[in-house]
Amino acid sequence: MEATGKPAMVVKCEKHGLHYDSARQSGCVLCRREAGELPGATAPSSRGAAQAAAGGSLGGALAVTVVLIVLTMFAMRSAHGAFIDWLRAQGNPTPMDARSEYEKKQMDGALKALEEQGGGGEGESEEEPGPTP
Ligand SMILES: [Zn+2]
Repeated sequence: MEATGKPAMVVKCEKHGLHYDSARQSGCVLCRREAGELPGATAPSSRGAAQAAAGGSLGGALAVTVVLIVLTMFAMRSAHGAFIDWLRAQGNPTPMDARSEYEKKQMDGALKALEEQGGGGEGESEEEPGPTP
C-alpha cells in the first residue's frame, strides 16, 4: 500500500458530483466509464458481449439437451439389454428368441428363393441371343 506516497488529491467531479482522487484518476467513476476506461453496463461493446453470452448459454442449453437425449437413449438401450438378459436368465425362451427364430426361417426361405431365382436368371442371361461386340 502506498500510504506514505503521493498525497491523495480528492476532488469533486463537477459533472457527476462524485469524489475521486485526481492524483491517480483522470475523473470520477462515471467519467471514466463514459470514457470507456471502465467496463460499464451501458457500453455498446458490453451489450454485444451480453448478447454473445446469451447465445452461448443458448448453445450450452442445446448441448445439454442433446447430451441428455443421448444419455436417455443409452440408458434405455442398456435397460433393454438388461431386461433381455434377465429374461434369458429365467431359462424361458423369450418372445424375442421365438421371433428371431421365425425370422431366421423366413430368411432361409427367402435366400432359397433368391438362389433359385438367381440360378434361373443366370441361365437365361447366358443363353441370351445377341451379337457381342
Ligand atoms: Zn464525473
